[in-house]
Amino acid sequence: MKFQTYLIKYGEIGIKGKNRYLFEDALVRQVKFALKDVEGEFKVYKSQARVYVDCEGYYDCDEVTEALKRVFGIVGICPVVRVEDKGFEELKKDVVAYMDELYPDKNITFKVESRRAKKTYPKKSMEMNADLGEAILDAFPEIRVDVHDPDVLLRVEVRDDIYIYSETIPGPGGMPIGTNGKAMLLLSGGIDSPVAGYMIAKRGVGIEATYFHAPPYTSERAKQKVVDLAKLVSKYTGPIKLHVVNFTDIQLYIYEKCPHDELTIIMRRYMMRIAEHFAKQDDCLGLITGESIGQVASQTMHSLAATNDVCTLPVYRPLIGFDKQEIVDIAEKINTYETSILPYEDCCTIFVAKHPVTKPNIGVIRKSEERLSEKIDELFQQAIDSVETIIVK
Ligand code: ATP
Ligand code: MG
Repeated sequence: MKFQTYLIKYGEIGIKGKNRYLFEDALVRQVKFALKDVEGEFKVYKSQARVYVDCEGYYDCDEVTEALKRVFGIVGICPVVRVEDKGFEELKKDVVAYMDELYPDKNITFKVESRRAKKTYPKKSMEMNADLGEAILDAFPEIRVDVHDPDVLLRVEVRDDIYIYSETIPGPGGMPIGTNGKAMLLLSGGIDSPVAGYMIAKRGVGIEATYFHAPPYTSERAKQKVVDLAKLVSKYTGPIKLHVVNFTDIQLYIYEKCPHDELTIIMRRYMMRIAEHFAKQDDCLGLITGESIGQVASQTMHSLAATNDVCTLPVYRPLIGFDKQEIVDIAEKINTYETSILPYEDCCTIFVAKHPVTKPNIGVIRKSEERLSEKIDELFQQAIDSVETIIVK
């Protein structure tokens, strides 16, 4: 027996009321996207508060499951054996064969739960439960019924075909991408920012990204690493528009004009300003960073306030209360960790001071930035004009 259909269960949150169809349509879209590169033909459709994937031709069940496990909004994936309706006696045989194949050890309890989505089917669901249960009991002497807490809840659903299933594989939860606007992720080559993007995307938010590099101080390989990370995140989010900004001249200018212990903060403020420029240009409703309180000097409460000072869009920092190990655990789960720890230089690490301020005063920082007034507008414009935009998928 082979699973030919996947029944997809989604959460309750956000699906009630008149917007439910938006949620469902987005889910169907994201499921189709997730299956785009999986071998096989897939028909994805919604019906009666569920989404179904019918599989045709050659396909690998594990590959389909893996792809579905990356679609936000899915809480459960049920692999279904779909049989033609050839009469109730045939259905009994199919159900017995299903139990035999999926549960080789029969020292278990079970319960049958039938549902007639097709009301013309000659047997009522209560009757189906009893008769199918009996057929299973007759076939396997060791097996027992437990109607309250069965090991196996066997579901039989009569539609045009008959759907038999008993397993639910957990999905990632969250909301389908595209149900909650779009935000701009400041994506570096580190561990944190890909995780931050993943977490906001999980709530249904589409992701764009901005990466700052500093050639020739940072290499082409460092940039490629960020493209690779965006690609890994895009397995969950769909295609990501990545803005690659050449930050070298701004960094050098800050280095030349500003006190060195304030370099990182001032640099971070310019990153936020530039990312916000692209965010507004593309209708993003917020910025996302991988910052976490106290992780480094530029992420103390004072430093975060100083960085935040230049933003007019809300800045989402989903990792704000996480310890590094908690972030690493998620990075491993979403498969970005191995790429993140590749040892290429980051533009922030090149111009860092030995003793960066940990309690920057916003007034003092603003004052220091006045030293940049001669050329900074021009450099800012140049950085924006020379952006390289890559669609990563
Ligand atoms: P990460 O692991 O995400 O690189 P980090 O611990 O290295 O974070 P910082 O270097 O202080 O921390 O950066 C804080 C946040 O600023 C990052 O999570 C990211 O969102 C953003 N950021 C830092 N460097 C860059 C960069 N070169 N391009 C884009 N965003 C960046
Ligand atoms: Mg970093």
